[in-house]
Amino acid sequence: MDQKIVSNEIKQKNRTGIFSLFRHRAQLSRQDIVTALDLSLPTVTNNLEELKREGLIAQTGSFGNTGGRRARAYSLVANARTAIGLDITRHHVTAVAVDLQGTIIISRRRRLDFERTDEYYRELGAIVRQIVSAAELDEKSILGVGIGVPGMVTADHQTVFYGGVLGFTGATCAEFSKYIPYPTALMHDTDAACFAEMWVSPGTQNAFYIMLSASVGGTVYIGGNQYGGSKMRAGEIGHTVVVPDGKPCYCGRRGCVDPYCAASALTAVTDGDLKLFFQRLKAGDETVQAVWQEYLSHLAVAVANLRMLFDCDIIIGGYVGSFMDEYIDQLRQLVLLRSVFDDNADYVRPCRCKTEAIAAGSALNYIAEFLNSI
Ligand SMILES: [Zn+2]
Repeated sequence: MDQKIVSNEIKQKNRTGIFSLFRHRAQLSRQDIVTALDLSLPTVTNNLEELKREGLIAQTGSFGNTGGRRARAYSLVANARTAIGLDITRHHVTAVAVDLQGTIIISRRRRLDFERTDEYYRELGAIVRQIVSAAELDEKSILGVGIGVPGMVTADHQTVFYGGVLGFTGATCAEFSKYIPYPTALMHDTDAACFAEMWVSPGTQNAFYIMLSASVGGTVYIGGNQYGGSKMRAGEIGHTVVVPDGKPCYCGRRGCVDPYCAASALTAVTDGDLKLFFQRLKAGDETVQAVWQEYLSHLAVAVANLRMLFDCDIIIGGYVGSFMDEYIDQLRQLVLLRSVFDDNADYVRPCRCKTEAIAAGSALNYIAEFLNSI
């Protein structure tokens, strides 16, 4: 191989290595980096100077008080780059901004009924502007706006190719971003939520994220990467059949997991209020308990099937997943009854990102892309 290419690769690897150390440590001295990465002091110094010039790290004090010369302390400038994420649902928009650490700097949620009109898209633009101004984001720091939508999105993030939930099949990124003056990308909501979950679960390589919200979706990670399938349709657990010829599904068929495991299967008895459902469940309301048992029995079938197919962690996410901590053992027991290979069901776990997962995940895609380019 060309020696110049090899030397550029080494240079790049050193830079990436140094920068990623800062993501996990609040402060570092040059010597810390030399020791951690086994690099020479001049290499570390040069890289630090370069990252400082680019505004990505800053000197933030010094170490030690034992006399002599103190070591300078450096830190990541977390807001040197930011990204915005939106979560579009039938009646609401949630918007967040995240920084280079993946920390949510600001979060806003407001009611806005979805419609494919110029007025709606103008309002989305206003929401983004409000986030920028309320968080006092430096315009130049904004990498982009990820728009999480309840629909399946082409691999280039430009078009909704299946939008049965909101009836917006064919909607484009250009349409959504008409009034947003930053780079934009459409994100399938389930993929975005799963991305946020994987962000807070470093080390998880294989997982299936099942999203139990207004609809049921799923995303698969294999070997640390999302598996989209041949046409970005992999993981759609919501439209696998759990009861042959059962309840009608919005997809036009019958008996899908969706009508049994979407949040609406629970909130039908609490006038659409999921929080109230879980309050009544806790209080021992018999009607609610019966609905919950039926819900869990169908969910257990779906989870057991996923485990059989993918042999991986199953993460219970979405609106229902955010209430799941207290009931996870109940679900695990039902899943275990259907298991062939496992003697426990600890691989089923509730999501860690309880709120804003879709908006955060939509934004984090931009952050990850930037970090990978460092
Ligand atoms: Zn269906």
